[in-house]
Amino acid sequence: MKVLDLQCGQRHVFEGWFASEEDFASQRERCLLMCPVCGDGSIAKRLSAPRLNLGGARSDGEAVLDVTVPVNSEQQSLQAAWLALARKIVANTDDVGEKFPEVARKIYYGEAEERSIRGQATPDQVQSLIEEGIAVMPFPLPSALKDTLH
Ligand SMILES: [Zn+2]
Repeated sequence: MKVLDLQCGQRHVFEGWFASEEDFASQRERCLLMCPVCGDGSIAKRLSAPRLNLGGARSDGEAVLDVTVPVNSEQQSLQAAWLALARKIVANTDDVGEKFPEVARKIYYGEAEERSIRGQATPDQVQSLIEEGIAVMPFPLPSALKDTLH
């Protein structure tokens, strides 16, 4: 599990969870990455990623970013698909908020009714859940969806 600090073309900074560095690269290549704030699809790794050794530097020592510019129409259809998926997740899961790690464990160990849940967890919490074998899927919900559904 890798936590990457990512940045979109509008300079929004957010975290992405990936199985590995290669997973990040392949998701980005297939244009599956999108800014949770504005939906921008041009996602790059941020220069300062404290949890990682990115080692991305040119021979002259200047740090470099991987950059991409997706075609505009592609970006819009991806955003629509992402929003549709986000709506589906919201409609089919119970929001347990910050109790997410606790509730996820209870369900996994059969102490609570089996159901799909969503909520908030820190990257550390997500990692320990995954290590326990609990299938946690990080999914940044668009803030517009969060606001209307609270
Ligand atoms: Zn953005």
